[in-house]
Amino acid sequence: MLAPYTSWQVGGPAEYFYLPDNLEQLRGALAFVKSKKLPLTIIGGGSNLLISDAGIEGLTICLKNISGILVSEARGHRWVVEALAGTSKSELLKIFLKQKLSPSVFLAGLPGEIGGGVVMNAGVGEKITPREFVEITDWIEVMRFDGAVERISSEKLKWNYRHCEGWQPGIIVKISLSWKNEPDDSILVQAKAANQVRLSRQPLDFPSCGSVFVNPTGHKAALLIDTCGLKGYTFGKAQVSLKHANFIVNLGGATSAEILAVIQHVQNVVKEKTDVELNTEVIKLGRW
Ligand SMILES: Cc1cc2nc3c(=O)[nH]c(=O)nc-3n(C[C@H](O)[C@H](O)[C@H](O)COP(=O)(O)OP(=O)(O)OC[C@H]3O[C@@H](n4cnc5c(N)ncnc54)[C@H](O)[C@@H]3O)c2cc1C
Repeated sequence: MLAPYTSWQVGGPAEYFYLPDNLEQLRGALAFVKSKKLPLTIIGGGSNLLISDAGIEGLTICLKNISGILVSEARGHRWVVEALAGTSKSELLKIFLKQKLSPSVFLAGLPGEIGGGVVMNAGVGEKITPREFVEITDWIEVMRFDGAVERISSEKLKWNYRHCEGWQPGIIVKISLSWKNEPDDSILVQAKAANQVRLSRQPLDFPSCGSVFVNPTGHKAALLIDTCGLKGYTFGKAQVSLKHANFIVNLGGATSAEILAVIQHVQNVVKEKTDVELNTEVIKLGRW
């Protein structure tokens, strides 16, 4: 079952599942996929995924063991970090905190892995600098399906709100990130405060995937959902959080189908009452 690999704790079985420990094993898995003509699915930290109860066909690869910081050093006026894609964002946070550098503030409390952070251009809404992965990423390395690895500089990628394109097809395996090496003694306090805000606003006592819907241009998804009276809307064990209307929480034992039913209900009601369409930030995987 894939449920333990997702922050929502839902999702059925993978037809085949593999947790490679290094890039050679990953390359071997890609050769297997090619020889058997299997569909391939990649999961990182699983903190932005809705995996179907029916599970995923073909091979699912979880990258969490392909992790580690390879470089963390000053280069000229910048502090440079190179890491494998499965390294958790919290490891990256530790480095920037130790160096007292400002990326610590937006990274504080961000779940998932660095690779997933690039794919989703993860970040925060607050007007701080930096606030998204686009601002700290210098280059990525992508393993193509034939096993070859290609380096792509950040400028060649297309970065949008919670989305990054221009690297597919393949698997992001390594990332280089950097920021101005200008330590600021107040960074620890700022990062702690950012984490406190998260704790006070988000329903972190229940499994979730963070914000379910992208903010439509000119609107806040949470405000639209709240205004439509949907906070607390429950189907089975899935509920629009009472604390944060853009979170759907698993009250314990929810199924993916229940979560999807809540997502669709919210989209329908918001469209009907406000004429605004809500698109999901969360990524649906598997057979639906
Ligand atoms: C409580 C909570 C709070 C959150 N708060 C925020 C927030 O403030 N801001 C924010 O932006 N997000 C937030 N999120 C969402 C989520 O943490 C981010 O989107 C995160 O960057 C996803 O990373 P991941 O490793 O978990 O990716 P996954 O969820 O595993 O995958 C996301 C997508 O990336 C693909 N993918 C992952 N790794 C790779 C790789 N190495 N190569 C190719 N494809 C890959 C997957 O196939 C999938 O399509 C929150 C989630 C939770 C649970």
